[in-house]
Amino acid sequence: MSKRIAVVTGASSGIGEASARRLAADGFEVVCAARRVDRVEVLAREIGGRAIECDVTRAGDVARLAEVAGDRVDLIFANAGVAIGVDPVATANLDDWRTMYEVNVLGAVATIQALLPAAIAAHGTILAMSSYAAAVPYEGGGGYCGVKAAVRSMMGSLRLELFDQPVRVCQIEPGLVATPEFTLNRLGGDQEKTDATYRGVKGGPLTAEDIAEIVGFVAGQPEHINFDSIQVRPRAQASKDRVDRE
Ligand code: NDP
Repeated sequence: MSKRIAVVTGASSGIGEASARRLAADGFEVVCAARRVDRVEVLAREIGGRAIECDVTRAGDVARLAEVAGDRVDLIFANAGVAIGVDPVATANLDDWRTMYEVNVLGAVATIQALLPAAIAAHGTILAMSSYAAAVPYEGGGGYCGVKAAVRSMMGSLRLELFDQPVRVCQIEPGLVATPEFTLNRLGGDQEKTDATYRGVKGGPLTAEDIAEIVGFVAGQPEHINFDSIQVRPRAQASKDRVDRE
């Protein structure tokens, strides 16, 4: 029997990379996509997958991703995403908001559109990366909360539109996940503020591996089970800022 195929966007770091590893350990052949092709090449070699350079905001790249993935895809993990800044709405940089929308929302939609026939053919799963930020707005989060809410909403529409198709539609909304690049990029490279985000969380923040575990679990469910939405936070995080710290 041929291997199950998973496509992971944003596989060059953090949650995407950990998920690619987890899926490979579960027996998937993983197509690892990201802009930093050197990183996904190393990863793909390590886990016996395939690497592809793919900027999800570029139509040509996404079309090539679908070509490489082939005509049966058991899991689409539309994970690529970015947060830029913590500006208040009143003074936010609209180019940053456009970039966030392009990557998080349109990038996910483009990925899903390109791979959907293959996911249906395989009776597969579509999993998109939203965030707890989609559920509860916070100060300085207008741009990021907005785009992740758009992902959540788009996946809700997709779930309805595909109700009679043999494909599962799921979105995941994590809270604090300590990954090396996400918050650092968001805060313009400020390591001290980044460290403070995760410091002292009792029991620790979530890890990329924690989310990867959930991705593997979702992908491994029998065909009749659809997790529509998964919200997951560290035990110590009751809301965005209500965090039990040492
Ligand atoms: P990282 O910054 O480690 O990973 C982001 C990934 O997205 C990278 O692999 C990056 O690869 C890729 N990416 C960014 N822009 C593009 C693009 N234009 N085209 C293709 N790939 C792109 O962050 P995390 O692993 O922490 O986050 C992964 C996802 O989880 C994101 O969608 C994020 O919004 C979401 N999330 C994260 C949380 C957290 O606390 N960390 C909480 C909730 C949700 P490259 O630069 O090589 O292209």
